[in-house]
Parts: sequence; structure tokens; C-alpha cells
Amino acid sequence: MATVSAIGTMMAAQVSEPGADFKIIEREIPEPGAGHVRIKVQASGVCHSDVLTKEGSWPGIQYPRVPGHEVAGIVEKLGAGVSIWKKGQRVGIGWHGGQDNTCRECRRGDFRNCRNLKIPGISYDGGYQEYMVAPVEALVPIPETLSDNHAAPLLCAGITTYNALRHSGAFPGDLVAVQGIGGLGHLEIQFANKFGYKVVAIGRGPENALLAKKLGASAYIDSQSTNAAEELRKLGGARVILATAPNSKAMSDLIDGLGPNGKLIVIGLTSDPIEVTPVQLISGSLTIQGWSAGTPADSEDTLRFAELSGVRPMIETYPLEKAAEAYARMISGKAQFRVVLTM
Ligand SMILES: [Zn+2]
Ligand SMILES: [Zn+2]
Repeated sequence: MATVSAIGTMMAAQVSEPGADFKIIEREIPEPGAGHVRIKVQASGVCHSDVLTKEGSWPGIQYPRVPGHEVAGIVEKLGAGVSIWKKGQRVGIGWHGGQDNTCRECRRGDFRNCRNLKIPGISYDGGYQEYMVAPVEALVPIPETLSDNHAAPLLCAGITTYNALRHSGAFPGDLVAVQGIGGLGHLEIQFANKFGYKVVAIGRGPENALLAKKLGASAYIDSQSTNAAEELRKLGGARVILATAPNSKAMSDLIDGLGPNGKLIVIGLTSDPIEVTPVQLISGSLTIQGWSAGTPADSEDTLRFAELSGVRPMIETYPLEKAAEAYARMISGKAQFRVVLTM
């Protein structure tokens, strides 16, 4: 999509082949083609899904590749035919990096499930660099009061948690449980609180109890020292449980904590099976649903809601040249809670 001309060079953190270490390279600044814009990247979130690019576990990635699908920046140059975006405008790009507009799902308006979905940092070079080129349908305007460093993680972790919750079917006042207090969970607790639910946070060990309450949970369940499903049942059973921690066993153990017509929504990505019996599902008319992020329009809603409600990610920042260190910090699982590269 992007063609290169000699207009200067920039810094990028690149993966040269599956499993290779990050390399900081100097390369030419890319030119935006028709229907694309060039963005001066200001911040780029480091997400666990960047493992797909780093380790080559997503089919068909062409290397070298620059990861990054949580990008906040400034429109710097318009490609041919671009009229609704302006130079100098603050924009973001999330997981949904473009659709083909021609597949069956796109023709139905279901862009989220486009069969040829493009993902920044996977299908084309993403945000771990000073400038990137993106198709206009991937762009999200960033509200004025939201900083680049806060907007970036909201474009993946934020939209996923916000969008899953607003489609959950729970009503204000319902009991909503959030399993896991990490990169996704710490946002989900805030959103659930601002949506007007009675929020119960479920974590392993007592460490995060205070933080969960600070983020808006009215109760905290330590799943290591108690049976979390039983504790939820004592509270009447959850209308919705949002499973954010990538732990299939923990998700399976929570199903009995759902109330009648309850729903387990899975957003924490793992490859192990969730175990549930037909008896469990049928007796309470339960549902188990998976949820992936959403369209750029959903991201726009997420950012606007964050602006309105004060929901913000907790972040740790690293300069672009320390991308390897930032990535290692994210992988360690010890970051509080999202890691962001700044340019
Ligand atoms: Zn992500
Ligand atoms: Zn499509």
C-alpha cells in the first residue's frame, strides 16, 4: 500500500523474522497511497496480541514487520482522494485496521467480522515507529481532553472491554462480575461501574482488593482463598461475568456463579478448552459468548465515553528505542497495567 520516496528517515522497532528480537532501525518515511494517510505516531500501546507478530503465530505475516495496533498520533499527510480527515488532526488506530468492503459480512455492514480484516502490525506495519501509513476506514478521532498515552490502550483493551459490556444485555443495577484485574480487567471494572452495575471483581490473592474498589468494584472475591462461584451465588448470582484473565480453568470454575439467564463473556485469549456440562447450561438457561474488539466507530464511542466518564487506563511508558524492554515488561505480566511506547 505504502510507497517509499526519499523524504527523510525515521526510527522503527522491527521484527525481522518470527521469534527474532526487536531491532531499532532507521528507515525511510513511508508515503501514503490513495485512500491512506500518514500519521506521526505519538504513542503506541504494547499489547499481548503483539506476540502474534513477534513469534509469527498469526498465519501469513510478511517479515520484516513493525508491530503495534494501539496507535495515537497526528495526521501528517493525506493520500490521493482523502477529504474528510485533515492535516494536524489527532487520530487513533486500533485492532480493526481496515476491511475489504466486498465480502459477505461487509456487504451486510458487519465490518467487525470482515473475512479479510486488516490488522495494523500484522497485515501492515503498525505503531512501533515514528510514522505509519493507514487506510482512512481505520481512523478514529481522538477527543481533545484525552492524552495520546491514555488513548492508545483504549483503542484495543478499552474498546474490547467497553464493547463487550455494552452488548452484554445487563441492565443498570444488575450484578456484573469481572474476572481478572489486569490490562483488560482494570478497565472493565471502571466501565462496569460507570455503566451503573453492581460490580464484583474477582482476583487471585488479596493484593488487588483495594485497587479493585478504587476502580469502582463494590465487592472483591479472592478466588484463591474462597470458591468464587459460591460467593457470587451468595450475592444472588451474576447477570454477566466478564472473563478477562487468560485462564480457561478459572473461567470454567465461575460458570456456577451465574444467575438465571446469566452470561459468561470471554475476552481473555487462551487456547485451552472451557469446561461446562449441558446440565449447567440448561438448568439456568446460561450463555457463553466470545467477544473481539469492534470497528473504528466502536472505538470512537469508547474514547468519547472515556472522556465523558473519566475512565482511564493505568499505564507504564517507555521510549520507542526501548521497545524490547517495554515488550518484555508486558510479557512479564507485572506491568500496572498497560505498557505504552512514546515517541
Ligand atoms: Zn491489543
Ligand atoms: Zn469484508
